[in-house]
Amino acid sequence: MVEFEYVTPSSLEAALQVLGDASHPAMALAGGTRLLIDVRAGVVQPAILVDLRHLDTLEYIRFDDHCVAIGARTTLAQIEMNPLIQRYVPLLAEMASSFGSPLIRTSSTLGGNIASFAQVADAVVPLLALDSTLLFQSAGNRRRQQLSAFITDHRRAAAHAHELITEVSVPVLPGNALWFYAKLGNRKANAIPIASVATVITIQSQRIQEARIALGAITPAPLRATHAEAVLLNESLPLRDQTIEHCLAVLATELQDPLDDMVASAGYRVLMGKALLRKALYHLRPVEQGDDKKMREE
Ligand SMILES: Cc1cc2nc3c(=O)[nH]c(=O)nc-3n(C[C@H](O)[C@H](O)[C@H](O)COP(=O)(O)OP(=O)(O)OC[C@H]3O[C@@H](n4cnc5c(N)ncnc54)[C@H](O)[C@@H]3O)c2cc1C
Repeated sequence: MVEFEYVTPSSLEAALQVLGDASHPAMALAGGTRLLIDVRAGVVQPAILVDLRHLDTLEYIRFDDHCVAIGARTTLAQIEMNPLIQRYVPLLAEMASSFGSPLIRTSSTLGGNIASFAQVADAVVPLLALDSTLLFQSAGNRRRQQLSAFITDHRRAAAHAHELITEVSVPVLPGNALWFYAKLGNRKANAIPIASVATVITIQSQRIQEARIALGAITPAPLRATHAEAVLLNESLPLRDQTIEHCLAVLATELQDPLDDMVASAGYRVLMGKALLRKALYHLRPVEQGDDKKMREE
């Protein structure tokens, strides 16, 4: 039988105190949709589970200095339905609408998904393309880190033990941005993804000024395809077929050590990653124009 102590702190400070006590390895419990499965299977063996359910202060979506700030305990269902997210960072809402099933979305939290990035973590893909930043807090300390740096930071396991992700800061898409998000699985709901892609492109005088391409479920961790992005810079829209094929060829060189498992072979995942990016580059969507002032005040 799996044994652990279970605590439900009523404040963030109290939760951080327990997580910071190195003598008793503790883990944060958010929606539990991954952690409880891992605990039951013996994949992780925490001495203490610190349930974050009473930390309402980590559950919000609001404007904050040209960004949408999202508290780590916000659920995928809340992200899917939120008008600020639908308007200003629509690829995040699109991702949430294809996440797990409606039941899973009401429990799964954004913080829990990001912390699980080494496994399936659909939210990380659009957040990478949106150049998001994470706020970490530990007892007596807080720091911000780019999501891209968090993923490549090899010290993350050590940092994880005593730190909580408390907020995700997502820059709003400018009016000259085009975007695309798609995820491919073996069925529509509750499917482990074979590949996913999120793309954000900003344009100036019909030429591409900046391109961000993120892919998930193909390599061991989600990645930004920076070399493929570089191919698109200064190209005019609509993109020529030749440019798109060159971009896809470069992308294939960036997809190192693709996952090869019972869901899909390595070769198939790479093929589908390229197919999704091809679709993205032909179907970029504009950001909808609305009443900004009204939306921000609501
Ligand atoms: C049927 C089913 C379908 C699923 N479908 C999908 C899917 O489509 N896409 C997908 O990406 N995932 C999917 N998952 C996996 C899981 O639901 C997600 O990864 C979920 O977002 C995890 O969030 P949680 O709040 O449940 O985290 P938990 O399970 O509570 O925790 C997960 C990990 O994150 C840590 N953690 C939690 N909160 C924080 C925090 N604030 N700061 C630091 N660490 C933290 C925990 O300690 C633990 O290590 C599915 C799972 C199931 C069972």
